[in-house]
Amino acid sequence: MNFHVLTLFPDMVKDGLYTSILKRAMDNGLISLNTVNIRDYTLDKHKKTDDYPFGGGAGLLMQADPVFRAYEAVTESIAARNASTQTAEASVGRKVRTIYLSPQGRTFSQRMAEELSKEENLVFLCGHYEGIDERALEEIVTDTVSMGDFVLTGGELAAMMMIDAISRLIPGVLHNDFSAKDESFSGYLLEYPQYTRPEIWHG
Ligand code: SAM
Repeated sequence: MNFHVLTLFPDMVKDGLYTSILKRAMDNGLISLNTVNIRDYTLDKHKKTDDYPFGGGAGLLMQADPVFRAYEAVTESIAARNASTQTAEASVGRKVRTIYLSPQGRTFSQRMAEELSKEENLVFLCGHYEGIDERALEEIVTDTVSMGDFVLTGGELAAMMMIDAISRLIPGVLHNDFSAKDESFSGYLLEYPQYTRPEIWHG
């Protein structure tokens, strides 16, 4: 599974995910993480990537063009890996699943993680400030996903949560593949309380 994250804060995503079980999975080539700094794709000489929303309202919006150009760089890299095809769409047979993290999206669940774990490439688009110019979203997003009814500062933590939950379902990522099958939400039940040594603790 190849995860591609479009973000203004790539270090946050890299530092957060390159740890413990996911670090081992990356080192073993079971998953890969490609963070793309949207700021690298602005044509503005001051590297600006945001501006005031038309019609007023508080805060700044991420501009469509840098987001779109960063997305194009990712889809071109996916196509390049499959040299027999010209575009990522042609290599996948449809648009690459591109997930915009947003409070307006469908709430993330274990079922969704299972479905997404079957993809070869997943692109995550992290908003910041007041979000992203809708025109970019209309062009590139296939799925809009929320972590719940609350507002985060940016989509990075949400993308990291999804990548973590999806990675656990990739064969070989957990030492014992039964671990994922035996966990909360894998059936319609939650896991039971568990105990380890010593047998007697606090009486
Ligand atoms: N103005 C937006 C609104 O009222 O819906 C909130 C923007 S929020 C401050 C900035 C970014 O954080 C969003 O573009 C989105 O990418 C991310 N985000 C915030 N809350 C989220 C949630 N519950 N689930 C997923 N992503 C979220």
